[in-house]
Amino acid sequence: MTGEMRAEFDSTLSEPELSELVELLRALIRIKSVNPPGDEILAARHLEQVLADEGLRPTVVEPFPGRGSIVARVRGDGTGGDPLLLLSHLDVVPAEPAGWTHDPFGGDLVDGYVWGRGAIDMKSMVAMEVQVIRRLARSAKEAGRDPAADPIPGLRRDVIFCSSADEEAGGWHGANWLVNEHPDWLRAAGALNEASLCMTYGGARFYPIQVAEKGFVVYKIHVKGRWAHGSVPTPDNAAVLAAQIVTRLAEPGPPRFTEPIAVSLARAIPHLTARAARAIQGLMADPNGLTAPEPGAIEATLRDLCDPVLARTVSAIIHDTVSVGIVAAGVKYNVIPGTAYIEIDCRTLPGTDEQAMREELRRRIGEELWARMDIECEQVGPSVSAPLDGPLYPLLEQVLRDHDAGAVPLPFLAPFATDAKHLARIGVPTYGFSPLKTGRDDGLLALMHGDDERVSVEALRFGLPVLWDAVSRFCA
Ligand SMILES: [Zn+2]
Repeated sequence: MTGEMRAEFDSTLSEPELSELVELLRALIRIKSVNPPGDEILAARHLEQVLADEGLRPTVVEPFPGRGSIVARVRGDGTGGDPLLLLSHLDVVPAEPAGWTHDPFGGDLVDGYVWGRGAIDMKSMVAMEVQVIRRLARSAKEAGRDPAADPIPGLRRDVIFCSSADEEAGGWHGANWLVNEHPDWLRAAGALNEASLCMTYGGARFYPIQVAEKGFVVYKIHVKGRWAHGSVPTPDNAAVLAAQIVTRLAEPGPPRFTEPIAVSLARAIPHLTARAARAIQGLMADPNGLTAPEPGAIEATLRDLCDPVLARTVSAIIHDTVSVGIVAAGVKYNVIPGTAYIEIDCRTLPGTDEQAMREELRRRIGEELWARMDIECEQVGPSVSAPLDGPLYPLLEQVLRDHDAGAVPLPFLAPFATDAKHLARIGVPTYGFSPLKTGRDDGLLALMHGDDERVSVEALRFGLPVLWDAVSRFCA
């Protein structure tokens, strides 16, 4: 990173440009890209036009009907190293209008907020990324260059924009396909992606930067009982055995503080109340001492310290978790079922592989019940981690501090998977960096995938210059 920024990389955001950004976001929200079925091609075509209007020649692909992704590249002079990838997704999760104050696909601008599905996850970032690309293309034009072919003045690395289909359902029709079929389009020194949301706690503003995400394992458990007549109860009722297994799986396992979380908590402690700091220090010093005598002790401590959504999130990122998704047994009320099956969704911390997860399940279920079941691994995806000491991460922290003197940037492990898992296969470290500065009442965690999803214009006013500075400092 060079200390002095060139004048053309000034991050100041004018009112007309803010309006342009807001209008782009509203337009994207109105393009219904609910997955399933996705129909992301409509959003991809819209952005293709937006970027073509700036003189760029983006590529839109539609490898499966309706499942469109877009990739565009602006060039640096190549002296700065490998490109930076701005990654995002075009699809959104469904929204049931009955629970909303405004039409979830109306893109209304009311009370200083843009309302609608995708306002947070993640069309606001798509719009900010496009705006960064627009700025770069315009600076080339102003210098009399062709933005589609010539280097952008002052830019030393390429900047790639990729907004893909299907992230909300695993990315198989989007990022996964792109990584398999066109890895060269996406190869980069690093990627910026979604998933970090500003959060206020105890008066401090924490900006989680996602550096890792949990892996997953899906298991199917076949419970072995014995068929019998309902008039004479037996101990071999597969439904009862399944219920016992489910109950044991629901107990939280031992906590583990992985590197990003240990660093995060250590940095957060000076900004917490004395009571909260003591409690967190206690958890970290002797996590097993707390849980061994009393399962759920950590959860109780967390609920005491923060709101229920945050408490559940923190618990999820310090445990290998198990959620029971399907329990099925029985054919008729007076027939004791001889079989049952259970499907479970396990989310694994960095360092927990499939074998270790299976051992943990066995420990929770116990040998007696374990002997009455078969377990089958249906899907497995490894956890993903990006380095904290790479060139990109410290720069992201610094940019946040430069724009918000009260910012406390923290590395973060996401409890869910994003498209970062696909980029990891071609060696691209991905950082979740959605610099949306939010107020105390925005409740972003709850609004993601929830009713009344919305983003404030002020959050966008803060976010674009931050993203711009991150891109220009890394690439210029
Ligand atoms: Zn998302």
